[in-house]
Amino acid sequence: MLNIVLFGPPGAGKGTQSERLIEKYGLVHLSTGDVFRANIKGETQLGLLAKSYMDAGKLVPDEVTINMLRSEVIKYDSPKGFIFDGFPRTNAQAEALDAFLGELQTSITLMVGLEVEEAELKQRLLKRAEFSGRPDDADPAIIEKRIHVYNEETAPVKSFYEAQNKFVAIDGIGSIDEITQRLFAAVDKNI
Ligand code: ADP
Repeated sequence: MLNIVLFGPPGAGKGTQSERLIEKYGLVHLSTGDVFRANIKGETQLGLLAKSYMDAGKLVPDEVTINMLRSEVIKYDSPKGFIFDGFPRTNAQAEALDAFLGELQTSITLMVGLEVEEAELKQRLLKRAEFSGRPDDADPAIIEKRIHVYNEETAPVKSFYEAQNKFVAIDGIGSIDEITQRLFAAVDKNI
C-alpha cells in the first residue's frame, strides 16, 4: 500500500493537493476535518461534540479523533492506499496511527509537509472564508488560535516521521500546479 500523510498548517493547501494525489495514485482520501464537518451537517453526536472544539479553533480530543479515523479506515476493502489529510495532528495520534496500520500489516510510506509562512496562511484562510462557509475561517482570532495550536501541538509530529526517515518538506508557495509537481516528484522518489 501507498500511505501518505499530507502535513502542513491550516491553509497550506492540503485539501487542494489531496485531490491531485488521489487522482494520480488511486488513493482513498481521508480528511478528518471533512469527516467532522459531514458529522456536523448530519447533526450526529460526534458532530455536536466536534463542533464545539472546531469553532473555537481547538483540536478535537485525541481519543475521539483516533476512534473516528479507525472506523473510516476499516470501511475500505483492500484499498491501494490512503492519503491522510489533517491527521495525525498530535504525537499521540501519530503513535496510534502507526500501531493501527501495523495491525493491518501496512505502514506510512511518506509524510509530505507543505511549508507556507504565517502571513500567507492568514490571507489564504480569510480568502477561503468568502466561499467556504466555515466559521473557523471567518474570524481572525480563531485563525490565530488554529495557527498557535498547529505550532504547539501539530508541528512536533514532523519529528516523529523524521525519526523514521519518512519526512519530506515541500515548498507550498507557487501555483497549484507547481506545488502538485513538487509533490508528485517527492512521492515518485519514495515508492
Ligand atoms: P485546516 O487544516 O484548514 O485547519 P481541517 O479541515 O483539517 O482544516 O480541520 C478543521 C478543524 O477540525 C481543526 O481546527 C480541528 O478542530 C478539527 N480537526 C481536524 N483534524 C483533526 C485532528 N486530527 N485532531 C483533532 N482535531 C482535528
